[in-house]
Amino acid sequence: MLQPGRTLLSSPRIQSRVAEMASEIRGHYGAELPVLLGLMNGALFFLSDLMRNLPPEAEFQCSVVGSYEGTASSGRLQGLDTIGENLRGRRILIVDDILDTGLTLSKVDERLLELGAEEVKICVLLSKRVPRRMEVTADWVGFEIENEFVVGYGLDHNGRYRSFEDIRVLDEVADK
Ligand code: 5GP
Ligand code: MG
Repeated sequence: MLQPGRTLLSSPRIQSRVAEMASEIRGHYGAELPVLLGLMNGALFFLSDLMRNLPPEAEFQCSVVGSYEGTASSGRLQGLDTIGENLRGRRILIVDDILDTGLTLSKVDERLLELGAEEVKICVLLSKRVPRRMEVTADWVGFEIENEFVVGYGLDHNGRYRSFEDIRVLDEVADK
């Protein structure tokens, strides 16, 4: 049975890194803030903490995309049609929980450029040290992690464990 185990990143560590990332993002964009596009559901907490560390003029939108079944990427991405056409001509900062195979971010990036976005940059809280299936470079990365399945701070396992304030590794435990 899979269950949340050891804490990989504590809540204070996450919070201070998110504040640091927001300050780097502010420094990069100055007064010309991008529209933040949060990829739900995983980026829910990261997006909201990032927004709270950005100027109040910052705008955001959400799209619901996903490719995961259990603990593995299905290789298909659903939900690209939830990306708003009103993003034409805008500078976009995609905000996602984790970069893994690269499928999600490469497809969303491609779709935004198709829709006529002026510029697309990527910000992820976590990046897994794994070979990518699709070439993607994130412009801002919170933490590099090993190839382990993690939950908490928005990240789920079949819909559960999103509400932990820290990030934990999902471990195999013997059935009782
Ligand atoms: P990719 O498309 O890059 O393979 O995967 C990106 C998406 O897969 C993430 O946005 C996230 O929703 C999900 N994902 C990838 N690795 C993990 C993980 O370790 N834990 C959880 N909960 N989701 C993951
Ligand atoms: Mg996701």
